[in-house]
Amino acid sequence: MSGEKIRLNTDWLCDCGGCHVALVDLHEKILNVLESVTIQHCPVLTDIKDYPEADIGILTGSIRTEHDRHAAEEMRKKCKTIIAFGTCAVYGGLHGAGLAHSREEIIDHVYRHNPTTRTDIIPDAEVTELAKMVTPIDEVIDVDLYLPGCPPHPHFIFESLATLIEKRQPRVTQDPVCARCQRAMIKGDASAIRNTLDGVPDDAICFLSQGYVCLGSVTLDRCLAPCPNHGVACTGCAGPTMQILTEPNRDIRTEVSDRMSRLTAIDAETIKRHMERTAKTQYAYAMATKMIGSKPTFLIRKWIADVEAGTHG
Ligand code: SF4
Ligand code: SF4
Ligand code: SF4
Repeated sequence: MSGEKIRLNTDWLCDCGGCHVALVDLHEKILNVLESVTIQHCPVLTDIKDYPEADIGILTGSIRTEHDRHAAEEMRKKCKTIIAFGTCAVYGGLHGAGLAHSREEIIDHVYRHNPTTRTDIIPDAEVTELAKMVTPIDEVIDVDLYLPGCPPHPHFIFESLATLIEKRQPRVTQDPVCARCQRAMIKGDASAIRNTLDGVPDDAICFLSQGYVCLGSVTLDRCLAPCPNHGVACTGCAGPTMQILTEPNRDIRTEVSDRMSRLTAIDAETIKRHMERTAKTQYAYAMATKMIGSKPTFLIRKWIADVEAGTHG
């Protein structure tokens, strides 16, 4: 990378900080980036409170407070290109699961009825108020580039920054996690759904073939498939594939249940019901995005409410 230095702003909204850590996780490649980039506003590296004019703006996290909204709008005004960086920014992320509950229920759970916090203080006077919902950033500002992942893998971070710095097309695929997984998807004889702690899965065979739910086939590969290649089923942290997002009637639970039923002796309806009962897990990373929430097959609030009322089949 060479030539005139690119001015970079970053900011974090409602998030865990992991995406900013991932930027540093470029290891020695960060030196290549720093040759070409001047870092300006960046909450983990600089103490610049305002938002200087910049070529690239990286936003991590989603919008849950007035502060988040203000920061996103300021970044949009000052940055030529905005990257929604990480699953929280792109789809709302894990805390998007707050969609399943009202703001008051969340505050009650975290502050009033939590044995490890003081129950007489609700932090609404000194910090900006919690918004009603978690909002992915492109519902508030225009976004130019999306880089999902929780956090994105350094390979994809470097590629996306290099793409912008070198002004070229990105070399990334839209493959699912399965494309990088070494496990064989073969017909198995599992007759019941297994939970993570049930038995020891064969590490050469697809989790689905063995009766374990794995979201690799409905998840975009922005991670190089570390989980299934190291003994853990994919939970979908990089967000859904383009097919799931763009085709109205394709849904995470219907896709996985159809595929898993073909690979086992378990019928698709049983798997679908299981996916609904565990919807908070299966949809954890992307339930706040309208692309998932507005699907005709999607009734997550009802599924969760039915489970909590003990009436889900
Ligand atoms: S996408 Fe994941 S790593 Fe990044 S801020 Fe959100 S929770 Fe943290
Ligand atoms: S479903 Fe999971 S275990 Fe099976 S091939 Fe895909 S990523 Fe691998
Ligand atoms: S394999 Fe799945 S859960 Fe693991 S990092 Fe990739 S997307 Fe996330």
